[in-house]
Amino acid sequence: MNVADIDRGTKCRDILTVPGTDIVLPITRICGNLPGQTLLVTGGVHGGEYPGIEAAIRFAAGLDAERLRGAVVVVHLSNPLAFFAKSQYVVPQDGKNLNRVFPGKATGTMAERIAYAIATMAQEADYWVDLHGGDLHEALVPFAIYSDQGGSEVVEQARAMAEAYGIPYILESSAIGGGTYTSAARMGIPAILTEAGQVGQLDEEAVQIHLDGLENILRALGFVPEALAAQAPSQIFRQFMWTNAPETGLFYRAITAGQWIKKGDKAGQICNPYGDKVAEIQASQDGVVLFVATSLAINQGDPLFAVAAP
Ligand SMILES: [Zn+2]
Repeated sequence: MNVADIDRGTKCRDILTVPGTDIVLPITRICGNLPGQTLLVTGGVHGGEYPGIEAAIRFAAGLDAERLRGAVVVVHLSNPLAFFAKSQYVVPQDGKNLNRVFPGKATGTMAERIAYAIATMAQEADYWVDLHGGDLHEALVPFAIYSDQGGSEVVEQARAMAEAYGIPYILESSAIGGGTYTSAARMGIPAILTEAGQVGQLDEEAVQIHLDGLENILRALGFVPEALAAQAPSQIFRQFMWTNAPETGLFYRAITAGQWIKKGDKAGQICNPYGDKVAEIQASQDGVVLFVATSLAINQGDPLFAVAAP
């Protein structure tokens, strides 16, 4: 499918089929009056990250083809299986995190097939913005991520997109693969993953962060004629250390998203169902807490929190 293969100056609702499954993903394609590049926007790669999904829906509905140069394709809900199952992190059919299996496999498991369908479409895009937020049991402070892969030109463009989005915290990630943005970078497509929203809430402020960010992206990349307004300076981090639960039990957190902490600070503790402490959790490095698990229930290996540092 050619992402821009519709008449100039028009918008159409469409579906992206996932071959080998009965999954169809709702998409909108908007083709501007003037020729240009193609922007892909994806929402709902994680099913419980509602502001990103809502922002994708409203962005697609509100974008006027008349003012657009080039084309925009929006996947409103990339992971309907997780969304309707109210499943945190994973596609329930295979237990896989969709944002760890990109670019997917045509004949793989359910998550891999969905990733493959989206990644195949992404090959025809010039830029990609993937909308996220804290999942059902994640408190989070807004941040944007881009990959350090794909060569200096791709990295520079992705960094410029992250800075244009208007979120104060930015991560340059050295993660190897599996995510939308890392997969995009390896295809030579500048991409960012943007996080706003948390704990399973459809929070209007977070929706607006995404909508403002997307408008900024359109301006920064020349998809619309308006100039990008000056953004507040953002801070770029290159270290991102996750702490996972060493034990299964009840997680009592002692930190909040957005808090600056020091290595060795108490971050929380895990207790057994009798109330006895089974693990003391400490901060792994100095930095800012970008997300922290909010569920009392924790399984061994679950992410507890992540700290970013320069
Ligand atoms: Zn996510």
